[in-house]
Amino acid sequence: MTYDKTNIFAKILRGEIPCNKIYEDEHALAFFDITPAAPKHVLVIPKGDYASFNDFAAHAPQSLVQGFFAAIQKTAAICNLEESGYRLITNHGPDAAQTVHHFHVHILGGIAMGHLL
Ligand code: 5GP
Repeated sequence: MTYDKTNIFAKILRGEIPCNKIYEDEHALAFFDITPAAPKHVLVIPKGDYASFNDFAAHAPQSLVQGFFAAIQKTAAICNLEESGYRLITNHGPDAAQTVHHFHVHILGGIAMGHLL
């Protein structure tokens, strides 16, 4: 999957489209999902041109991988989800119904979600 710089999250990263920001550092940006699937539904995206988890895991430098995962944890803490719990989801490719082709992790919380699917 080649990276398309016109995807919506690339536009958010460049500041061309607004987002409801929760956290940002040199590695990542976290913002509320526009169509929440849980009371707290946040997206965390890395600052780099990676189309999906598969691309990120295969090609991102270790410093970015580490910084990105740290940003997810910090975002969950800012959202006050550490005690109650949260679920992380990332979709890669058609069978997972990935719709935005810039790697992102969903943080879902604020409700008891049951077991997996
Ligand atoms: P995917 O299905 O690719 O894993 O998830 C993409 C997510 O991006 C969806 O949950 C969708 O609601 C969210 N989304 C799509 N466009 C926008 C947007 O312009 N702003 C925000 N904040 N979220 C978006």
